[in-house]
Amino acid sequence: MKKLVVITGASSGIGRATAIKLSSEGHPLLLLARRKEKLEELNLPNTICKSLDVTDIETFKVAVDEAEEKYGKVDCLVNNAGIMLLGEASNQDPNEWKKMLDVNVMGVLNGIHVVLDDMISRNEGTIINISSIAGRKTFPNHAAYCGTKFAVHAITENIREEVANHNVRIIVIAPGVVETNLLSHTTSDDIKDSYTDWKESIGGGLQAENIANVISFAYSQPQNVCIREIVIAKTRQD
Ligand code: NDP
Repeated sequence: MKKLVVITGASSGIGRATAIKLSSEGHPLLLLARRKEKLEELNLPNTICKSLDVTDIETFKVAVDEAEEKYGKVDCLVNNAGIMLLGEASNQDPNEWKKMLDVNVMGVLNGIHVVLDDMISRNEGTIINISSIAGRKTFPNHAAYCGTKFAVHAITENIREEVANHNVRIIVIAPGVVETNLLSHTTSDDIKDSYTDWKESIGGGLQAENIANVISFAYSQPQNVCIREIVIAKTRQD
């Protein structure tokens, strides 16, 4: 059997597609999200499904310990869970900013904290952080979301430099728009409508499977090859 992979936010979209892809390649999986029933619906072999809020580091540790007892050490963590609450900076509810910072930034750091030390001591392992093109450039109504994704890029590159000498890889994937449920949590209908119009003007977003394929590609390189960043978007996205 191949090595254990942990995927956060595997109940939907990119995380779900990644779970299906890596399972088909023979990896045992620990799948994490708040909606456990959506993880179980996937019905993948050699898979443990746990309900988890990525902001809760203690539950994160317990879930990883349980999976490691069954399948051996975590070889790869895909830090994918995220939310996008778009809003105008002048009137967006600051609770939405806090939620995004907690999930998109602290959630990623929590995952890293749970697995990194052990990867360093074993001199192997891979962490793949799902950022966004919104982690490289700004968009209207994206101030806080872009802030979280620029943070994911910065955290990834900083830790990459820290752990390179230990043969541990940390990779950032920056997708453009993808057809998932991500936009659905934004509260402003006007903003949702204009985002949807823009997306339709480029012929719709990528499919989640397109992102799963590049995650698999980056992970499946030999341990001494680190693809530091992949930017992937619809050809017509500017
Ligand atoms: P979805 O909304 O389809 O999936 C988001 C996933 O994150 C769900 O499985 C959800 O599970 C999980 N999640 C959200 N909050 C939490 C939490 N507090 N704890 C644990 N899990 C959580 O969106 P995508 O698949 O599009 O998003 C995946 C990642 O891709 C995100 O980081 C997003 O920012 C990024 N991305 C998406 C793009 C797009 O256009 N779709 C473009 C660029 C990047 P549950 O609700 O069950 O907890």
